[in-house]
Amino acid sequence: MKIKNAEILCVGTELLLGEVINTNVAYLGRALARLGISVYHTSVVGDNSDRLSIAIKGALEHADLLILTGGLGPTYDDLTKETVASALGLPMVRDEKILSEIEGYFTSIGLPMPENNAKQADIPEGAIALPNKLGTAPGIFIEHNGHVVVLLPGPPAELHPMFDESVFPRLREMSDKILVSHNIHIMGMGESAIEEVLFDLMKNSQNPTLAPYAKESEVRLRVSALARSEEEGEKMCSEMIEKVKNSPVGKHIYALDAERIEKLVVAKLKEKGLTLAVAESCTGGYIGKLLTDIPGASAAFAGGFITYSNEAKINLLGVSPETLQKHSAVSPETAMEMARGARERLGTDLAASVTGEAGPNPDPQTGKPVGTVFLGISSAQETYSVQVKIPPQRNRDYIRNVATNRALREILIFLNEI
Ligand code: ATP
Ligand code: MG
Repeated sequence: MKIKNAEILCVGTELLLGEVINTNVAYLGRALARLGISVYHTSVVGDNSDRLSIAIKGALEHADLLILTGGLGPTYDDLTKETVASALGLPMVRDEKILSEIEGYFTSIGLPMPENNAKQADIPEGAIALPNKLGTAPGIFIEHNGHVVVLLPGPPAELHPMFDESVFPRLREMSDKILVSHNIHIMGMGESAIEEVLFDLMKNSQNPTLAPYAKESEVRLRVSALARSEEEGEKMCSEMIEKVKNSPVGKHIYALDAERIEKLVVAKLKEKGLTLAVAESCTGGYIGKLLTDIPGASAAFAGGFITYSNEAKINLLGVSPETLQKHSAVSPETAMEMARGARERLGTDLAASVTGEAGPNPDPQTGKPVGTVFLGISSAQETYSVQVKIPPQRNRDYIRNVATNRALREILIFLNEI
């Protein structure tokens, strides 16, 4: 059978109470979009058999594919499998192979199998059991009366590999469309300026579509083509990408399907054989954290200084007390001295610094409005500062995030230009 539209039904009282964020729906939504299967409806139901049964029957009235997550465990509140079987009118049968796998799982961790785990080996008649590498509950794939019903375990760590390995390939066979998407990353041009230039292209694009997403420190243009095959989709996307490249937006494109910016920074430093140090004030180590998220960053990233107080800036980085006195901690002069100090002390080719007002209250010592951030870049040849202005009504988290991203971006711009 061919699947056109789907519904996702997440089971769990903890989701309704807001104790657990429903990340499964986001994961499945993205995957189904890639498969070209439209999701028209998603819902959450608590661990209650009657309400679940009503939701299942309702979903099957308008969806070809119903994916349920959660409630596959062995405990009394895990009712999804039995409720689905009864809603579809299918008897439960014991699968001896699954039973021996569950027994094997318990033997491998040196424990006897609790009696209620045997229940996990019962599956609706005619269903396919999907292996669970990380837990005991198998997933279930049912094709019945023109519908496909898939049951997946609640824990995302179990759901992700099971979906990718056992469900995605099956659904791929059942969908005659595929969605191919690419992201064009733009820095140095705002969303509305981009829209002004590309308005006609965006408005008239049906397939592929071209849509902007403003992120904290960049704009992304997402190109998506619904096609019969991957090759066809790629061709449709690349034609659209060319049009954007040839427009006035073209020169602001910094990457296509970019990896995280910190990854690009580390890769660029390695490519150029250069080393980096950082000096952070208002970002409190966040730049260093992101750079050290990248495995193998030590070849390019030497380390950094968190210099929050004036004393730390003076003692650790050699920022002059006169500079702080005259210009304050939040100034281009301080940013430059911080960057130079970090570079000299760690003996790196390059250093970047950040100093700013993250708020919420302005610091009378600096006299600068909240959202004022200065970045410093220092190399053996030059030391300069760049100001970032963030709207003061933004909260502290936002300001620190943007300051971090802009610092990484400034490092990348510097590396691209030398
Ligand atoms: P288990 O065998 O662990 O009981 P299960 O399939 O019965 O698995 P649930 O009992 O419904 O799953 O959920 C187990 C845990 O999985 C939840 O406590 C929650 O942490 C996580 N979880 C469940 N549903 C979701 C969801 N939609 N999004 C994110 N996490 C979820
Ligand atoms: Mg459970």
